[in-house]
Amino acid sequence: MTQAELFPEHATKYSKRTSGKKGASDRRLYNQAWRKTHPGYCHAYYLKTKEHQRVTHAAYNEVHKDQIKEIKLAYLKAHPEARDNQKALHHEWYLKNKEHVKAAVADYHKAHPEIRKNRSRVARAKRKLDMDFNFREWTRHTIKGHRARGCEILLTKIQLTDLARKSARCFYCGDALSWAYTGVRGGCRNSPTLDRLDSGKTLEVGNIVIACRLCNTTKGPRTHQEFIDYCELILRAHKKNA
Ligand SMILES: [Zn+2]
Repeated sequence: MTQAELFPEHATKYSKRTSGKKGASDRRLYNQAWRKTHPGYCHAYYLKTKEHQRVTHAAYNEVHKDQIKEIKLAYLKAHPEARDNQKALHHEWYLKNKEHVKAAVADYHKAHPEIRKNRSRVARAKRKLDMDFNFREWTRHTIKGHRARGCEILLTKIQLTDLARKSARCFYCGDALSWAYTGVRGGCRNSPTLDRLDSGKTLEVGNIVIACRLCNTTKGPRTHQEFIDYCELILRAHKKNA
């Protein structure tokens, strides 16, 4: 059902679809002015056609599923900041509606236990393929661990994920870090770990680097300078012995 059929009293010579054609911007201006002089009309139109729109959109999305996915992925690839911006906006909204969301999710899970099970399985399979997921998952994991140890955290997940994306090599030894998700708890010697240059200070930009697991373990509670001095000490002792 078209707009003109639904509201014959408002049908005008502009009712034909003109987007992208000659006169499209005239049409836009006309629409803007028209909406101002007819408050509530758009909402009434939406209410009248809600079900129809839902069905039409669902049918369209079903047919063009792959195409839509491709466009979305290409966009996120070209605009890596878009995902973070979107996340920040979502988080802001979530904080405002936390209680409501929690209650709604709990109700939904209670009513559809099978959907939840299936969804987590699909999500796990997807995560293994998504490289960027590894950075985000590492960030989540690291922040959680440091918070549990009572660290004061003065940086956001977005900042830490950005640092992770840029850190291909260990800060100390320069070995390649293995960011691939192995599913093994604890990881291997090249697993990326977060290191504070000064262990006493809080987690903040300027005091953190990403080092391999082995370097971080060797460094222990030493400060950055103490660790470098320690390495020089070993080097000197070995040169003397050689
Ligand atoms: Zn290292």
